Amino acid sequence: MKKQELEFFRKRLLKMREDILTKAKKLKEDSYNLGTDGIQDMADAASNTYTADILMSISDNDLTNLKDIDGALDKMVKAAYGICEECEEKISEKRLEANPVARYCITCKRQMEQKGI
Ligand SMILES: [Zn+2]
Repeated sequence: MKKQELEFFRKRLLKMREDILTKAKKLKEDSYNLGTDGIQDMADAASNTYTADILMSISDNDLTNLKDIDGALDKMVKAAYGICEECEEKISEKRLEANPVARYCITCKRQMEQKGI
């Protein structure tokens, strides 16, 4: 994959990551506003555990997405991004555009779905 293409997907992945974290942070803040023990919560927010705190308010679905995004970013570092984990062929850019965290090419993915994996 060309460097500028890689950069394009990297930015998309970072944006997706940021969106999830922003959403989680907002949820957390909303729960502060609703909470009756606001002082305690604010003390928590000021501590170093804030990030872990935010992560705890992320839904399971988003957490899975976050792991997928981190996995994809990790693969970029290892120059393995856009390569199918099953057959090691390139994943089409069209597929990556639709799903930047895709781990398998469409052929392998279809086969897996047929087998019910
Ligand atoms: Zn494949």
